[in-house]
Amino acid sequence: MSTRGCIARVTPKGFSGRYHHYDSYPTGLGKALWHLCHGHFKGDVKAMLRLLIDEHTAWLSIGSSLPDEPCADFNLEIGYRNYVGDDKPEAHALWQRSPQCFCHGERSEKGWRINQDNVEGDTEYVYAFDRKGRMQVMSWGDTGMVMFDLIDLRDDEPNWQAIEDRIDIAQGRETRAQRIAKLEAERAARAASQAA
Ligand SMILES: [Zn+2]
Repeated sequence: MSTRGCIARVTPKGFSGRYHHYDSYPTGLGKALWHLCHGHFKGDVKAMLRLLIDEHTAWLSIGSSLPDEPCADFNLEIGYRNYVGDDKPEAHALWQRSPQCFCHGERSEKGWRINQDNVEGDTEYVYAFDRKGRMQVMSWGDTGMVMFDLIDLRDDEPNWQAIEDRIDIAQGRETRAQRIAKLEAERAARAASQAA
């Protein structure tokens, strides 16, 4: 499932950045950005944003599909790769760990700049970095895209699930824990009716 987002710089009017396709909620893209900054880029936010916003024009995912790796391995080649089911295990592992954009590799899309005026409703989260090295976590509120959290990248890693839950509750949605509880109850009910 795609959860769309945007990686951006704070501007005087709002923000300006690039599209990110998969898992853009705080426990996905928020966490990936934090780890990419502190890991590969050793805290150099400017260098990270040059790569993510200036050198590439849109992202499929900067995350990793491996559960214990919060972000892709940026030492690997960056680019879009079609995954074909009969790939060898090594190729599959590489695919899971590679940063994938829409502008290199097997795709060469031009991409576009997303800002506060053209952001579309299906873009659920924006992560906008200011000059002080802080990350604004934005999502939809009463007045358009609004800031729900301000994370100082020099602090300890925040609780991403708590941030995500707070946004869900503010937007009148179920939290992930509530969704899981509901789906488990539905599954138990199905199992019970099949057994009857
Ligand atoms: Zn690219």
